[in-house]
Amino acid sequence: MNFKIFENISRRDFIKKAAFLGAASTFSLQAGLRVFDNAEAAEDSAKPDLWSLSLCPYCGAGCGLYIGVKDEKVVAVKGAEEHSANKGYLCMKGLLLPQILYFKDRLKTPLIKKNNKFEKASWDEAFDLLVSQFKKLIGDNGPDAVAFYGSAQLLTEEHYVLNKLAKGCIGTNNVDANARLCMASAALGMISSLGKDGPPANYGDIELADCFFIAGSNMAEGHPVVYQRIADYKAKKKSVIVIVVDPRKTITTDIANIHLKIRCGTDIALYNAIAHVLIKEKFVDEAKVASYTNGLQQLKLHLEKYTPEFAASVTGVNKEDIIKAAMMLGSARAALYFCCMGLNHSSVGVWKNNTLINLCLLTGHIGKPGAGYFSLTGQPNAMGLRETGGLCHLLPGHRVIENEGHRNEIAKIWGIDSKKIAPKPGKNALDIFRAIDKGDIKGLWVMGTNPAVSLPDINSTLKILQKTGFLVVQDAYHPTETSNYAHLILPAAQWGEKLGTFTNSDRTVNLLKASVKPQGEAKPDLDIFLEVARRMGYEKFFQFKNPEEVYNEWKLCTQGTDVDISGITYARLEKEVGIPWPCPSSDHPGTPRRYTHFKFYTPDGKANLLARDHKEPLEVPDAQYPLCLNSGRLVDHWMTLTRTGKIPQLINSSPEAFLEIHPDDAEKLGVKAGEFVKVISRRGEAFVRAKVSDIVRKGEVFMPFHFGYLHKEKQAANLLTNPAYDAGSKEPEYKACAVRVEKA
Ligand code: SF4
Repeated sequence: MNFKIFENISRRDFIKKAAFLGAASTFSLQAGLRVFDNAEAAEDSAKPDLWSLSLCPYCGAGCGLYIGVKDEKVVAVKGAEEHSANKGYLCMKGLLLPQILYFKDRLKTPLIKKNNKFEKASWDEAFDLLVSQFKKLIGDNGPDAVAFYGSAQLLTEEHYVLNKLAKGCIGTNNVDANARLCMASAALGMISSLGKDGPPANYGDIELADCFFIAGSNMAEGHPVVYQRIADYKAKKKSVIVIVVDPRKTITTDIANIHLKIRCGTDIALYNAIAHVLIKEKFVDEAKVASYTNGLQQLKLHLEKYTPEFAASVTGVNKEDIIKAAMMLGSARAALYFCCMGLNHSSVGVWKNNTLINLCLLTGHIGKPGAGYFSLTGQPNAMGLRETGGLCHLLPGHRVIENEGHRNEIAKIWGIDSKKIAPKPGKNALDIFRAIDKGDIKGLWVMGTNPAVSLPDINSTLKILQKTGFLVVQDAYHPTETSNYAHLILPAAQWGEKLGTFTNSDRTVNLLKASVKPQGEAKPDLDIFLEVARRMGYEKFFQFKNPEEVYNEWKLCTQGTDVDISGITYARLEKEVGIPWPCPSSDHPGTPRRYTHFKFYTPDGKANLLARDHKEPLEVPDAQYPLCLNSGRLVDHWMTLTRTGKIPQLINSSPEAFLEIHPDDAEKLGVKAGEFVKVISRRGEAFVRAKVSDIVRKGEVFMPFHFGYLHKEKQAANLLTNPAYDAGSKEPEYKACAVRVEKA
């Protein structure tokens, strides 16, 4: 494949072409030679000797792929045609994956900071330092003096062992992860509405739907292969309706029959108004809905005030479009409701998910082919993380810390005294950093994530990292914006170098095989956790010889739960290329679609219709900060750029951040397209070029969030964002804060 064909085409065409070329194609490393250590070897490697099953480690679309190896190097990937998520398609990030193993900044040995400089160390020295420091901090101050901040990019087996170590052995629930920043609101939305975490629908439903309601998801950039699947289907079947709710005009809105361009943060008013119209226009079979839900009458009363006129005044969308969208949804035989960070990154993220789920329940668009709520996970294993209890309030098998029965069940499997598991949730992501600031947490172990770019209010985060008593960073690369602050850096194996499982957005469990050995002395995260557990004195609880043995113990935690994977083995995963849970027995095919009998995981088996009111974001524009800042992703970039930022074909498509600003606002400020502007919030300032466009609404501006200080000084959206969070999910409000723009 010759990448020159992409050079002079527009970004929109590039995205579509990239997904198309990924279809069932084999891609060798032709394009990646500039950053490949051994360019000649790669050039000769068009035909790998061996292909191993794996999954893309970026977004939660969870595209199946095969890794091609020649001479013990990863030289190619190809999409897995038989995988239910992507049917062979890969986007550019997936296609270019082989490069991530061979960057020059791959960590190959542990590093210990001495006299403010990092020095190479042996694993023995590294483990000794980590274990002695953590033991001392715990001995002097109690187990809650330490915290673990993980990543939805770790394997399920790794989350399981980490949580067993921290919650079951050390005795602290201070275990949280970047999944808190991503899906926590969707998870709690599903739990409060449907009884349990985990979406009802699956990717196969795409080609069975006749209507798509895409809310708060620019999937063309966030989940390109999912977008491509819907776009292809709509192109083939002209009657398919696409409704998109987004404050911005995006590539996703290009395929919409109707784009509801709402004011930032007003989703609840919109969904309530759609529900109002659905009921008023008799699209709701009330007797049937009442048979599988609670709260219909209360919801009807609540919705009286949410007329299309009222919602139009709140959302800025005209009432005719609201009515039209409601009529389209009501007339649909089967609608799929996709949603993503537009809902979750909000101080009312859980409520936004509740009101969207209300629409599925009212229309009966759940539990049947082509229908259902479908939360797209941002990260590849956000689901596996939550399944294994990877947040501070959870235990494995969708159990919760505060439930004594749940603690007893898990303690039995772990072989520990149940009193060892503290009965109160630990600190969530943001509160871990606040507790370090206060001096309550003194030791922090960060793994596979980069909070110095990804947490809101970066200036405060950097100050806190600076004052952390003992900071361990475990990553595949150094430097990162976070690893620079570490006292100890542990080199972790990367995708393709370790064995384990991921669960993607539609509950499908996938096997990722180890195709090559880790670089240098890097170790799989699992091996690091197991060795620390042994050295801390917990050896008897961690007698695992390999990841599969960990998986088999983890499976025991799921027996009889909604996330039952008892029937899923590594051998089956390899043969069947992904199986959706629940799958309680070896002869069970897995469950692509949940709630087919309209029985939900609530005490009476009925789903909850929840009456939620619109609330403005916690920081709204005022005279001093008159614009609302929204933030989000770009298609070729992944999170904080530790990988995609070093791949020329990806970073060069958008090498710096920018500020989208409406022409009327730009004119008022005298700002011209392409000029640098200063964006100022109550927490910091950024300097970026202005992109003057009606992509955004008047009064709103947008910045991509990827750029930390190692890529571009002062271009991080999170220098500006508000660290306020949803009271229930504790997920931050990344998508609305007040800013002022000045000519720079
Ligand atoms: Fe698929 Fe997402 Fe990977 Fe692209 S980044 S190949 S859409 S999993």
